Amino acid sequence: MCGIIGIISTNEVSSRIVNSLKKLEYRGYDSAGIATLVDGNINEVKCEGRVDILEKDILKFNLKGDIGIGHVRWATHGKPSKINAHPHSSEQVSVVHNGIIENSTILKKFLEKKGYVFKSQTDTEVIAHLVTDYLKKNSLKNTIIKVLKKLHGSFALGVIFKDRDDLMVGARRGSPLAVGYGPNENYLGSDSYALKSMTNKISYLEDGEFCIIKKDQIEFFEGNGVKINKKVMNLSKEDIHYDKGDYKYFMEKEIDEQPSTINDCINEYVDRYNNQINIYNFPWKINSFQSIVLIGCGTAYHSCLVAKYWLEQNTNLDVSIDIASEFRYRKVRFKKDCLYVFVSQSGETADTYAALELCKKNKMKTCAVVNVVESSIARDADLVLPIYCGQEIGVASTKAFLGQMLVLYILSIKISFDQKFITKKDYQSKIKNLLSLSNSAKKTLKLDHKLLNIGKVFAHAKGCMFLGRGYSFPIALEGALKLKELAYVHAEGYPAGEMKHGPLALIEEGMPVVVIAPRDDHYKKTMSNMQEVIARGAKVLLITNKNKDEVVSENIWEQIEVDKLNDELIPFLVTIPLQKLAFYSALEKGYDIDKPRNLAKSVTVE
Ligand code: GLU
Repeated sequence: MCGIIGIISTNEVSSRIVNSLKKLEYRGYDSAGIATLVDGNINEVKCEGRVDILEKDILKFNLKGDIGIGHVRWATHGKPSKINAHPHSSEQVSVVHNGIIENSTILKKFLEKKGYVFKSQTDTEVIAHLVTDYLKKNSLKNTIIKVLKKLHGSFALGVIFKDRDDLMVGARRGSPLAVGYGPNENYLGSDSYALKSMTNKISYLEDGEFCIIKKDQIEFFEGNGVKINKKVMNLSKEDIHYDKGDYKYFMEKEIDEQPSTINDCINEYVDRYNNQINIYNFPWKINSFQSIVLIGCGTAYHSCLVAKYWLEQNTNLDVSIDIASEFRYRKVRFKKDCLYVFVSQSGETADTYAALELCKKNKMKTCAVVNVVESSIARDADLVLPIYCGQEIGVASTKAFLGQMLVLYILSIKISFDQKFITKKDYQSKIKNLLSLSNSAKKTLKLDHKLLNIGKVFAHAKGCMFLGRGYSFPIALEGALKLKELAYVHAEGYPAGEMKHGPLALIEEGMPVVVIAPRDDHYKKTMSNMQEVIARGAKVLLITNKNKDEVVSENIWEQIEVDKLNDELIPFLVTIPLQKLAFYSALEKGYDIDKPRNLAKSVTVE
């Protein structure tokens, strides 16, 4: 969360810092700020709210400087306000920070006793004063080494120094940080996306490292000051330009991109000619693991839940699912014959990354399912299975969810066949079915018009429920999450069969309820549960798939029918109307669809 950018150049930097902050806004957007050095003075412009406001203020102040740092904030300590916006500066230094300093209260007391005066309520301000204090008796490099040792918690930092317009410092523990190489200038950024308009040459800091960046040189160090060399990576051309095109919102574009992202992903993993799945770099013998644990957070966790059904159906593995923030702090019993799979769009999700590190420490087999292949999780796992979705900017994940499910499904069929759990004929028929998924997704997108009006009802509901059985249960959870995230409507996802054990008490006259009931083995049971909520006054939107029998059930308020596909693939199709439902509900309320309140993408705090 939060975005950091730093530029050191021979030209003025503020307009480019603002442009990069606009790209980073998906990571945090409650306040923004920038600091530059001019004639040995630190000049700051900060605001509450969005980068657009900051941009106007910068023009007003005519902010100059060839070196500067910028930040978009996702508040953890201290409310979103101008005073709490980063950068935080002392007489000597200015700091931008992503993450949490867990011992900030102790450090603050220590610094206050020494006479330092705090202006903000943030945990970050301690860093500015601590650096200032150490600089009095130490060289710049030793100051950084000592300050980093003092800080507990997670951070990515960018620091500029009043008396040093020839350099800036970057440091990383937990939160990601990239550096970029330009012509007579160099950069610091939370992710490569922010730097792409300036360079395609990037390196990443690893945990515990710091760097000193000059216009014509970047030096990297381990936390103890030992110099290290870094690989320079070239970013792919297609990732460099990603914008909204003709769309008003990234989310809308990203939902519509799904047929093509499904195709791109399938093309990477499916050999259409030989009708087989290729995961070339699979490093383990198939019988070296008898169980599998899938770990994620939020939407990624829901993709793991769907995968549990596929893996149990198609393999003889024991399957467990875990929420990363729970897994990492539990007394987990690690098993040698287990494969641990970590799912994260950004590949930087702090809890998922910590869970991966824990498994690595215990010498487990690890696999990452990520969108960003340069990410920390991708770099550290034994096997990386990219989802090939391209950049996702909308904070509420859409195409990445489908991509995560797709890769997990592909992995499940590969394991299934390798275990000889299914015959070659069944294996090839599953692959054949998969090849029609993109086309069915395209048809599902056309159901759009109906959802515009349905969204108007959900937008104004006091609360609503999403119900499903089997594969449709995790999809119900994801549908409810999307509505919460975007339209701020209280929504609960439930297994349809659980309603009578309590939640039925919530149903009242006119309450909108989504029932996800494709015509699979659960259909009849779900229909009964649906009638139970209708009998108690619910207004039911049924999401099902096409079938020859016209009449399905009575008293349904609205019905959406996706394509008839193999049951295993229905989760992909029924997800799409739920994404649209959340989108239209938020649109009806005039909410900021790409940047919902209180949230941010790439969750790099615990
Ligand atoms: N903890 C810091 C603050 O609340 C940084 C938050 C962020 O990552 O944006 O200001």
